[in-house]
Amino acid sequence: MADGVSLPRSYREAREDFLLAATTAAARLRSVEHPLKGLEGEDLFVDVAEVGPEDATEVVLVVSGTHGVEGYLGSALQRAHLESLAGVAADGPAIVFIHALNPYGFSWVRRVNEDNVDLNRNFIDWAEPAPANREYGELAATLVPGDWSAETQERTLIEMAAKLEEVGIDRLQQIVSGGQYDHPAGVFYGGTEPVWSNRWLQAFLGERLAFVRRAAIIDLHTGLGPWGHGELISSEPPDSAAHARQADWWGDVTSLHDGSSVSALLSGDWLAAAPELAPATEITGIAIEYGTVDSITVLQSLRADAVLHANGDPTSPEAEAVRTQVRAAFLDDDPSWLATCTPRYRGVAEAALAALS
Ligand SMILES: [Zn+2]
Repeated sequence: MADGVSLPRSYREAREDFLLAATTAAARLRSVEHPLKGLEGEDLFVDVAEVGPEDATEVVLVVSGTHGVEGYLGSALQRAHLESLAGVAADGPAIVFIHALNPYGFSWVRRVNEDNVDLNRNFIDWAEPAPANREYGELAATLVPGDWSAETQERTLIEMAAKLEEVGIDRLQQIVSGGQYDHPAGVFYGGTEPVWSNRWLQAFLGERLAFVRRAAIIDLHTGLGPWGHGELISSEPPDSAAHARQADWWGDVTSLHDGSSVSALLSGDWLAAAPELAPATEITGIAIEYGTVDSITVLQSLRADAVLHANGDPTSPEAEAVRTQVRAAFLDDDPSWLATCTPRYRGVAEAALAALS
């Protein structure tokens, strides 16, 4: 299904391709405008394209761009899936494609949103105090220093190596990427309240799934794991009924909770919150996490991006180099990467449709 499909060069291009594929597939479309503008001054939207019976009691949701820049792959997979649906009879479960859940990050080639917030750390219970991450605080000035000169990079890498020596790689990953709520200019920052995309998604899921009996959710991510490999990551505890369904539908599923995943245990990821947002629906959700380059290269790109947006000018010519660095960390424009990533998505989507049919 990847034949002739390459990764979009910009949010604008991704959106145009997605909307064209949706129109060709005779999908029902709705577009929700974001309050801010994109990198090229373009308007930003979350677009929802839907195929299949409007009143289906079973639904498959496919989401791209939770982490902005990771949407370049997600968009291409959604587009190819939509193209394969053109002319297919409308029965069975409905398929709902949510394009660019975090359109600002997508357009600005950032993993975070317009508030420097990691959307997958933002779905905590805001009635409670945000989770503490004291050890992140000790590393905050090292991770996101005041400038990004060669000297600063060298010094901070030495500091990080010392911490690595002290706590080990798994613990360091947990401290850095598990989520933090005290350093707004830092990395993996969860914010102070539900952000725009969070509020929209809550409202959308509450309304869209109100009369849906069972839903599968496929959330598309990149930047962790071996090149082209799509790890299936569960937000559910390994002994839960939801995890049992995930394993039954999709086979080899790792969990955030038991150290089996390439990801740290997160606070505030939206798949973990989804069952509460649609309490009448049995939700079986999975994140597909596609690998790109090594984790140090990915983290270096996120640090460069955070320094740029904290202390630099994202519209300057120098900022383009940072965006190039981030793009190269979260996707591979070599067509063989997309071709390698595609079968996993296809298999997961087909299994979800079969389980719900
Ligand atoms: Zn992600």
